Amino acid sequence: MADRIRLGPAGNPQEYSGSSPGAPEFISGEGLSAYEYQGTRGVRISEENAEKLGENAEQYGVWTTIHGQYWINFASQDEETREKSKERLFKAARIGSLMNARQVVFHPAYYSDRSEGEALELTIEGVSEVVERLKDEGIGSLVGPETTGKRTQLGSLEEIIRICQEVPRTAPTVDFAHIHARNNGALEEKKDYLGVFEQIEEGLGADAVKNLHTHFTEVKYTEKGEDKHLTYGSESSPPFRPLAEVIVENGYTPIIISESPILDKDALRFKEILEDAGYEDF
Ligand SMILES: [Zn+2]
Repeated sequence: MADRIRLGPAGNPQEYSGSSPGAPEFISGEGLSAYEYQGTRGVRISEENAEKLGENAEQYGVWTTIHGQYWINFASQDEETREKSKERLFKAARIGSLMNARQVVFHPAYYSDRSEGEALELTIEGVSEVVERLKDEGIGSLVGPETTGKRTQLGSLEEIIRICQEVPRTAPTVDFAHIHARNNGALEEKKDYLGVFEQIEEGLGADAVKNLHTHFTEVKYTEKGEDKHLTYGSESSPPFRPLAEVIVENGYTPIIISESPILDKDALRFKEILEDAGYEDF
């Protein structure tokens, strides 16, 4: 359970040139307390280094998560790709558990010329199989399907909630930039952010909201959805301030991972905005 709001970078901090196991010390020195290891282009860290990373994270009070491969697609037309997707998610979870990762983040699928219902059904089947295998092997990390930014990708908030309702040991990963981008700039005011929390609470209960795992960055988008991530303040969209107020006023304690081009630097700006909105427990 997250004890308080935690912020940190997606990957190694901008000015940190060492290897991943040393990142938690640097992150904690900056005043941050979360780290998402990036296995997006393949989980290449050795088991030994994953364990070292977990130990260091523990020592420096940093909450770790792992982002699995981009090449996961549980709804692919190609059976081999669907099978490989299970392997990839399983591997991310196994290595993630060595680094003490609380949640294994992944983009579940592309619609792949299927109906939304069919793609979702296949995804639920595939993720369930992986979770069964994790259970059998005593691996405890939560599996965290993420809201995705492109309209060709499965991953609306409704779909992520459905997956988490159907599959045990799952928890949603909420990428606010993706929700904003796939819905034409839907997140502007407090009520828009509150709507996200309320929808999750309705679908998955109060605990799911309190310790929500989230990503935040500004985003450029087109009619197809997400185009690219931007540094905070480039276009102020989506804005962080109303989110900070919703978090503080409702006593939520999410993990907020910055996926901005300047990673930890923007995480520190989000931290300032949260403090300015009245949060005192960092
Ligand atoms: Zn992601």
